[in-house]
Amino acid sequence: MWCSRLLSYPLSQGQSSSSRARAALAQLNHVLEAELESIRGAGTWKSERIITSKQGPYIHVEGSRGGILNFCANNYLGLSSHPEVIRSGLEALEKFGAGLSSVRFICGTQTIHKNLEEKIARFHQREDAILYASCFDANAGIFEALLTPEDAVLSDELNHASIIDGIRLCKANKYRYKHMDMQDLEAKLQDAQKHRLRLVATDGAFSMDGDIAPLKEICSLAQKYQALVFIDECHATGFLGPNGRGTDELLGVMDQVAIVNSTLGKALGGAAGGYTTGPKTLIDLLRQRSRPYLFSNSLPPAVVGCASKALDLLMESNAIAQSMVAKTRQFRSKMAAAGFRISGNDHPICPVMLGEARLASMMADDLLEKGNGEGTKGAEMTPLL
Ligand code: PLP
Repeated sequence: MWCSRLLSYPLSQGQSSSSRARAALAQLNHVLEAELESIRGAGTWKSERIITSKQGPYIHVEGSRGGILNFCANNYLGLSSHPEVIRSGLEALEKFGAGLSSVRFICGTQTIHKNLEEKIARFHQREDAILYASCFDANAGIFEALLTPEDAVLSDELNHASIIDGIRLCKANKYRYKHMDMQDLEAKLQDAQKHRLRLVATDGAFSMDGDIAPLKEICSLAQKYQALVFIDECHATGFLGPNGRGTDELLGVMDQVAIVNSTLGKALGGAAGGYTTGPKTLIDLLRQRSRPYLFSNSLPPAVVGCASKALDLLMESNAIAQSMVAKTRQFRSKMAAAGFRISGNDHPICPVMLGEARLASMMADDLLEKGNGEGTKGAEMTPLL
């Protein structure tokens, strides 16, 4: 297929360099247009809605009237528009500037970066933490740095794309177990006994269905087969568990999960950034070997300021984390009473199952068209606290 496309743009001896460049571009466009058409044809085209206000429970969206109630951001605790979070970001911007123009190990580490890492480790009750530009980067950077061809990684088949990509980059022996299937995990762990280290990798909470990994069972299998447990807590940090520490706190296994990766781009202020927290030896190694950490710019001070304040708020009191539990129950029960089927466990991701993709898309368009009318007056940007 590629060959036939290439052959449709033959190069001739007499062509000037600019006409060759034009031919190459025309060929590229031809290839890409076909690819784009196939995405449209498959019905998987993703279009973006353009928000004209701050992220928050109430937003304004280009092309729709009035305010819209927003149920699809990962702004779980409403902290992305919390006045103290915004103020802290502004103060950091004023004091530490727009950015570092550097990676961390050259001249990109400020006091605020070290303080935030210390705060993250304290929040998760782990020895140390390392910041990344995103959790995607944290997942891209950990497996390759940690695991060698002597080792094995066992990954839930429905893990997030960034875990899958991170694992692809490493040279360890790879096992994929069926989604949350403990029998299958055990069989794979038995097979993996021949390797040096064994690392079980799972999302703490899976974002598509809001289902929660059976961490108790995973940890007891890990103990039985002397494996380490890694969890991605992007959809848990800040709100799952009595103090919002995450899935490991919710399920009582904080001392049994070795490594936590998570994001600052969802519940913790929603700006950007990710991290790994765990044993100090691991964090020390990541600072030496983890490529997205070594070869990408430092987190901007404003982002660090916002996340740092979000963590302060969560560590001062568990009221914010607890408020999520009540709201989730209220939403789930009222939607069920209205006749909708909501899948998943008690997670704030509440997939409303309409049974057909086209119907879901039409309903989303209708809801947007309907808007929230007068209801948002005076309620604009009020955090859900
Ligand atoms: N891991 C999971 C489970 C996620 O849902 C996401 C984001 O959608 C990521 C990692 C990536 O996080 P970030 O946006 O910080 O790159």
